[in-house]
Amino acid sequence: MRRIALLVGVFLFTFFIMSEKKVNAYLLMSPLFSVSLSQEHVIHSIPIQKKKIALTFDDGPTSDETVQILDLLKEYDAKATFFVVGSRVERYASIVEREIREGHEVGNHTFHHLIWTRNVSEKQLIKEIELTQEAISNISGYQPSLFRPVQGFYSQKLVDVVEHSNLQVVLWSQKHDTRDWDRPGVKYIVQNVLNDIENGDIILLHDHVNGKSQTILALKRILPALKEKGYECVTISELLKTYESTH
Ligand code: ZN
Repeated sequence: MRRIALLVGVFLFTFFIMSEKKVNAYLLMSPLFSVSLSQEHVIHSIPIQKKKIALTFDDGPTSDETVQILDLLKEYDAKATFFVVGSRVERYASIVEREIREGHEVGNHTFHHLIWTRNVSEKQLIKEIELTQEAISNISGYQPSLFRPVQGFYSQKLVDVVEHSNLQVVLWSQKHDTRDWDRPGVKYIVQNVLNDIENGDIILLHDHVNGKSQTILALKRILPALKEKGYECVTISELLKTYESTH
């Protein structure tokens, strides 16, 4: 009997520590909570109780894929977050304008799709961020509040620079890197999104890939399936708001 009580105790203690750690890690990650910067402030997912998830699309806009994705999102009453490349924003301003008008979120993904490596200076990164903010805000005055580093490469220095620009670094749920840019097959993309889906997950997709995109065909299966499972597709800022409202 004492042994069982001990086991239950250990279990409860571990559970307590684990859940505490998860929430604290998140709190420390988000500048919205004005907690002192003591570790990397990077969002992978947002621990919420409600059945909400965030679909995110990188590297656009494009004149074909982005438009088809926007049509599908509209059909299923889903909202998404587009991490756009600044140089493309100038070329396809009307598409970014549509993203904003239809209630989606637009985030910063650098101006030239610049990967954060040793060879890139802080100054260069700041310039890339500023140019992209400017390109986006030139369209109906929209000010992005999120930044996604290219290919997910970041360091504490990048986080500092991004936060200094009043932006939040957002990656994605590790288990939902669909690799759709590599065209792994529609079925693979669909399963990667739907398998093991949890509240507050952030899904990585692309609205600009080399070659024929499989993302749109995948979305045609993903969107109805998510709806059937009772998940609402919202922007990342909406996930953050949901978290804030309950903490
Ligand atoms: Zn990218």
